[in-house]
Parts: sequence; C-alpha cells; structure tokens
Amino acid sequence: MGKKEKCVICSEIVGFHFKGMEEWGIEGTLCGKCYSKKIDKHYPGDHVRVNKHLD
Ligand SMILES: [Zn+2]
Repeated sequence: MGKKEKCVICSEIVGFHFKGMEEWGIEGTLCGKCYSKKIDKHYPGDHVRVNKHLD
C-alpha cells in the first residue's frame, strides 16, 4: 500500500503502472512513456501513439 514502484527501464517513479508483455522480456513495472515506446517498437503501425511529442 502506497509503495512507489520504479520503471524498470528509466527508473522513474511510476504513477500509473504498466506491465510489459511477456514477449518483450521485461519483468516488472513500466511507466507510460516506456510502455508506449515498447508498443511502438514491437508493434509498429498497430498502435497510435498519443504522446509522441514527449520523446
Ligand atoms: Zn520508464
């Protein structure tokens, strides 16, 4: 309860947790930004990125 988790990729405190897909080989919590990047990398064209300007 109230435990802050860090993104396994960028080590930032994650507010809204995302879980990586098994096929990504990632164990743990991702932040929205890294999750979005992974989606984009693994599923190009299948996903509309809404926060591309954050890169
Ligand atoms: Zn991250």
